[in-house]
Parts: sequence; C-alpha cells; structure tokens
Amino acid sequence: MSKVLVIGAGGVSSVCVHKMAFNPGIFSEIHLASRTLSKCDAIADSVKQRCGVTVATHAIDAEDVPALSALIEQIGPKLVVNLALPYQDLTIMEACLNTGVDYLDTANYEPKDVAKFEYSWQWNLHARFKARGIMALLGSGFDPGVTSVFAMWLKKHKLKTIRQLDILDCNGGDHGQAFATNFNPEINIREVTANARHWENGQFVETPPLAKKVAFDFEAVGPKNMYMMYHEELESLARFIPELERARFWMTFGDAYINHLTVLKNVGMIGIEPIEYQGQQIVPLQFLAAVLPKPETLGPTTKGKTNIGDIATGEALDGSGEKTFYIYQICDHEEAYAETGNQAISYTTGVPAMIGAAMMLTGAWAGEGVFNMEQMDPDPFMEMLNEHGLPWQVKELPGPVAF
Ligand code: NDP
Repeated sequence: MSKVLVIGAGGVSSVCVHKMAFNPGIFSEIHLASRTLSKCDAIADSVKQRCGVTVATHAIDAEDVPALSALIEQIGPKLVVNLALPYQDLTIMEACLNTGVDYLDTANYEPKDVAKFEYSWQWNLHARFKARGIMALLGSGFDPGVTSVFAMWLKKHKLKTIRQLDILDCNGGDHGQAFATNFNPEINIREVTANARHWENGQFVETPPLAKKVAFDFEAVGPKNMYMMYHEELESLARFIPELERARFWMTFGDAYINHLTVLKNVGMIGIEPIEYQGQQIVPLQFLAAVLPKPETLGPTTKGKTNIGDIATGEALDGSGEKTFYIYQICDHEEAYAETGNQAISYTTGVPAMIGAAMMLTGAWAGEGVFNMEQMDPDPFMEMLNEHGLPWQVKELPGPVAF
C-alpha cells in the first residue's frame, strides 16, 4: 500500500494512472501533477468514472526544482513516476535527490537544444542516488523497457549468451489522419530523423536516417516495411549484455508517414534551431508539434494492432547449440482504448510504467543507485505483463535473421 506521484498528463500518463487506480492494493493513493492542471483533472475524471478511485491533481513545472521539491515534500510519496518529457528527467531526479524519494521514468534524458539522447547524464547520478539511499529505475516503458526485459528473460530461461539481437517495433494501427505521431510529436520526430546507429563488434556504427529498409511479416499485422534506427535501449543492452556482437532496432513506417516526414524536413519544419517569426523566436519543430494532432486524441479512431518484440540468437542454455528465439507482444488499439481511453502506443508504454512502479513499491525490484531494466530479475515483471493487459509469446525460429 503506497502513495505515488505521477508527473506529466499525456497519453502515457493517462494509461499508467488508470492502471494504478485499477490496482489499489499496490497504489493506495495516487497524485498526478503536470504543467496543465486541466489535463490532470481530465485523467482524474476518467479514472473516477471507470473505477471510482480519486486521483489528487496538482499544477507543477517539473523544470522548477525548488517548486517540485516542495510539492514532493508536501505529498510525501514513496515513488515519483516521471511521465513528462525526456527534457525534465534531470530536474525531476534532482528533486528526488532533494527529498529522498525513489524515481522511475520511460525515456532517457535529452537536452532541448541538441537532438541527442543517451544515458550518460542519468548514469552519472548513480553515486548520488546510492549515497542518498534511493533508487532510480530508467526506461520502464515498452521500448525501452519491455524490450530489455524480454532480452533478459531469454538470457535467464533460453540462451546462455546472446550473440545477435534485433528489436522489431511494428505499429500496424491506422488512425485515419493524413499525418500524426502516436506519441509526443516533437520527441518522435527528433528520434526518427536522427542518424541510425547499431551496435556491432564492440562499437556503435552510424548510418544515415531511414537508409536501411527491410520487409517483415508481423503476426497479427501482416507484411510491413521496417527501418533501422537508433533507440536508447541499444546503449543499455550493449552495456549489460557484454557478449553482444550485434544489436539493432527496427521500426515500421508506412509510405505516407515517410513522404510527409520527407516533405516537412525538406521545407525546414523539423528544425530545432529557433528562428525569428514576426518578432518572436519560434522553434519550427515545436510549432509543427503544436499543429499536429495530439497523440491522446488518436484513441477513438485508431484500429489495428501493434507487435513489438526481440529476436535473439545465441548459445542455448540446455547445451543444444545455437538457437534463435522470437519473443513478442501483440496489442490491439481498440481494446486498449476501451479499457483506458488511450490508443495502444500509450497503452504499451503506460502499462510497463505501472508495472515498473509496482516492482519498486512491492520491493520485488530494489536497490540504491541508478538502474536499468536489464539489471533486474525479469520474472516478476514478465508475470505482471501477462496479468495486466500485455500478454507475450515466445517461439523458436529455424535460424538467425536473414536481414
Ligand atoms: P505527451 O506529450 O502526450 O505528454 C507529456 C506530458 O508532460 C504533458 O502532459 C505535458 O504537459 C507534460 N510536461 C511537459 N513539460 C512539462 C513540465 N516542464 N512540467 C510538467 N509537465 C510537463 O507525451 P506522451 O504521453 O506521449 O509521452 C510521455 C513520455 O513517455 C515521454 O517522455 C516519451 O518519450 C515517453 N515514451 C516512452 C516510450 C517507451 O516505450 N519507453 C514510448 C512512448 C513514449 P502539457 O500538457 O502542459 O504540455
């Protein structure tokens, strides 16, 4: 029975807060704080309607460390769950250090002025978290998050070593809009248009954005084009599975998405350098994000399924030679929407955030310092995925991937 403070009130937060409210045995008191109070209130209203639980709401700028520290002191939570944006990771961690409260997030820190995300800034806080006797759990979403737990589950139950790892993220959903992103548009576009990077023989190899395309037939979705790109869990996987010879991340995009993105890039709309417009400084990508559909509004119209998983090849635990396993999760957009009022991308991130929080609050996962998902026992997390709406499957493939 624990009190929790969730920060941020977008699609991921909405799912996570609903799921926490559905599990009052673990989350006895839920507080929700974000920049825009009305968004917190809308989530609290929906939770009240769906399960009768009261969520307390607060307005906060999570970049104002003294104000956030004061709010944490006032509420006295056991855990702060950061579901705002990657830009706020460090200030929220700082407020947790000030107040001696555990921390969890779903995306690693990214400075606003450089489209670069990496764990170094947060890993550097390990000694301070340890000295304060508190825990930070990084990247408890789907990818990063479940994809790392999948890899560690394979390492615990199927493979002694993992030589090759491919993470395949397929969104087969159709939202009916000409162009929209299924999570925060600014973060999504910065991620997709960055150079691709994959891990190979002890180092990251960089290639131009969206240059490598492969067709793959996804169960429950069908054939899709997927593109190699960089994703943050490659950094933690390479660190915690040191024998990895190659690790890559793939995401599917439809031709319409790629065409829109190409045009927007060509006309300068995804730039992150401020420009002057009618006497005001504006960042083109932030302006674009403001006119695009909000991810949380896509729920009612999105149909289809997501299929996200890992294909891993390595030496079998049972001594039977080299084996390849595919472990994946299929989520239905309409079912996700019916349960919490949000589409499957928010759902597949918000549920693992709730589960990571449950792991920490129940003591199933514990530690002092800053931790990634790979460092924790995958079993209790995997059990909760099955019980809380993200059932997974694993099958053996005839051999390593041919792409
Ligand atoms: P949204 O943009 O929908 O929501 C972000 C929320 O954060 C908004 O409510 C916003 O407030 C709030 N916020 C922004 N800045 C501040 C601030 N300074 N102080 C307080 N609140 C602030 O994003 P999503 O819900 O789609 O994504 C949430 C997080 O989840 C992101 O970090 C994203 O990168 C991550 N994510 C992780 C995935 C994974 O699998 N690991 C997948 C998808 C997303 P306001 O409404 O006022 O702007």
